[in-house]
Amino acid sequence: MNKAFNKKIVNVGNIAFGDTKPVIIAGPCAVESAEQINTIVAGLSELKVDMLRAGVFKPRTSPFDFQGLGYEGLAYLKEAAQRYHLPFVTEVMAVADLEAVAEHCDMIQIGSRNMYNYPLLRAVGQLDKPVLLKRAFSATIKEWTMAAAYIKSMGNDQIVLCERGIRSFDSSTRNTLDIVAVPIVQKMTGLPVIVDPSHATGRRDLIEPASRAALAIGADGLMIEVHNDPDNALSDGRQSVKLTEFGPMINRLIAS
Ligand code: PEP
Ligand code: MN
Repeated sequence: MNKAFNKKIVNVGNIAFGDTKPVIIAGPCAVESAEQINTIVAGLSELKVDMLRAGVFKPRTSPFDFQGLGYEGLAYLKEAAQRYHLPFVTEVMAVADLEAVAEHCDMIQIGSRNMYNYPLLRAVGQLDKPVLLKRAFSATIKEWTMAAAYIKSMGNDQIVLCERGIRSFDSSTRNTLDIVAVPIVQKMTGLPVIVDPSHATGRRDLIEPASRAALAIGADGLMIEVHNDPDNALSDGRQSVKLTEFGPMINRLIAS
């Protein structure tokens, strides 16, 4: 427990969510090939990045879009993460995949679309594995914190919450970043809360200012999509920061 803020610390290896230093998580939206993930992880390993994130089971709006490489992608991700000594978080969408994925990853992500999936929340609550619980884009703060309570009720209290924007009426951004949700939920739950500016804005040009706002309001970390070739990414290229631009950006953010 961090006494100053009465907040729970969630550890993933040597990383402490909820302590004084914000945790930086970065990686592509999806693992696309062994070469792609290796290139990106190699680049990120040189920067101020604490942890990797990439999806292998992708929850896409259209069933005809790239769905992720599944277990093949998980193997590529694990190999790259081990090569560069970085822990990683990845999303699981089905109860049936939980144990197998948990064996290999350092943290399980429950995505926005599954925040209301109570059987999945209960199942991840039975694991001894840190969980990153993203806010559903339609969730009230009560619904989001209750989703965390589902996980905790099964015994797993290693939970980090992630604000990723909520659906609103304005189309200039993909979602609307609910920045005040960060201190509200930190106070309500005592859990660390991080911000995902990528899905919150959907725009590469807004990642840095949104990240700065998140850090200023006291977020316990950032989760940012980064790609070596965003124009040809198989998902979320428009909101992905170019690998070559990410180092200077993170230096500006951490120094500020
Ligand atoms: C993701 O993190 O890649 C993702 C699909 O985000 P969300 O669940 O917030 O939509
Ligand atoms: Mn994405």
